[in-house]
Amino acid sequence: MLVLVINCGSSSVKYNLIDTENEKNVCKGVIERIGAVTSIVKHEPAGQKHTKHTLNIANHTDALQQILTYLLNPESQIISSPDEIKAVGHRVVHGGEMFKDSVLIDEDVTAAIEQAFDLAPLHNPPNLKGIQAAQKNLPDVPHVAVFDTAFHHSLPNKAFLYGIPNRFYRRYKIRKYGFHGTSHYFVSRQYYKLVNQKAEDTKVISCHLGNGASIAAVDGGKSVDTSMGFTPLSGLVMGTRSGDIDPSILFYLIEKEELTLANVHALLNRHSGLLGLSGYASDMRDLIEEASNGDRRCQQAIDVFCYKIKQYIGSYIATMNGCDAIIFTAGIGENSPLIRKRSLEQMDYLGIEIDDKKNDSPERGTIQKISTESSRTEVYVIPTNEELVIAIDTAKIAQASDQSPWV
Ligand code: ADP
Repeated sequence: MLVLVINCGSSSVKYNLIDTENEKNVCKGVIERIGAVTSIVKHEPAGQKHTKHTLNIANHTDALQQILTYLLNPESQIISSPDEIKAVGHRVVHGGEMFKDSVLIDEDVTAAIEQAFDLAPLHNPPNLKGIQAAQKNLPDVPHVAVFDTAFHHSLPNKAFLYGIPNRFYRRYKIRKYGFHGTSHYFVSRQYYKLVNQKAEDTKVISCHLGNGASIAAVDGGKSVDTSMGFTPLSGLVMGTRSGDIDPSILFYLIEKEELTLANVHALLNRHSGLLGLSGYASDMRDLIEEASNGDRRCQQAIDVFCYKIKQYIGSYIATMNGCDAIIFTAGIGENSPLIRKRSLEQMDYLGIEIDDKKNDSPERGTIQKISTESSRTEVYVIPTNEELVIAIDTAKIAQASDQSPWV
């Protein structure tokens, strides 16, 4: 089944057309700077020339229309009619407590996503815009929402409750939700397949290290704890997000620097993390390069980043009373031998040993084991594919929705 996967940000739409029969990507692309004077459109059909254009795209509905125009372009022959797209899968960041699985989008689901605006003000509103824009452009096919939070619905109360008055959980649903669920789900499933083990019999720690970064403890196939929380701001140090800090720092800074709520929000989400620590860049490649040229603050940023990962891994080994495998994924996790090694150094007490040769030269884009044969915990690099998870879930739900309830 051909499924169009849509991931909408406030001024961008990423798209992937995926054939779920063979799990292959047919075409992917992104439209950025929607609403600006010039928008940038990158269109990458598999096995064909990639193009990059500037266009004027006013809103998400126009963006979706533009994507269809590209897909229908007779020269590239990706599809010859919109009818070939059988379903649309939407990445939705926050499903609140309501959504434990992916769902067919109807009016109630749309209303519930809207209700979760409060919980994810940066993500859910553009996600819903994307849904509405896609529904306008492809009104006759099922649209499915796949939530970043859903995989973590299995967290026990002791892991998701914060130490604040319980009425805030009851009143406002303030709790840990966790994110990157599709990625943690995907790489843990890849691992079970690889080692031919049942999910129930395994304990895995999945480290998704990209611009946004999170770690999940996956015990018996279920997420039992994860580093992001009520929002994607907590946990690891990220590109521009602070990760965990002592909340009292905020009271102190608000007074000292006379900060407003908006200032604090920007400080923690956009000016902190690797960027804030290094004062130079949020991109790990730039930091590694500058650190190798002797920049002390870039080196420190890398040190803090890796130390946090190590701490979370240690704590999740305690959470699960063991760990069969640690998985590294996403931009940094898949591509940086240095960060993998630094995050796991001096953990032989916990049975973790990296094979330097394997770690230094994994083939890009493939699954690789990078631990030594004597390591009690195996370590893998497993490329993530969140879009494929969305496409497969969407195809399943679309097919089920097609069946008559009377058979
Ligand atoms: P997101 O999807 O969250 O935007 P990605 O998963 O694409 O992020 O990861 C982006 C991060 O991966 C950036 O910090 C980038 O520098 C880092 N990265 C990509 N390639 C490498 C590499 N070869 N070495 C170190 N870091 C890398």
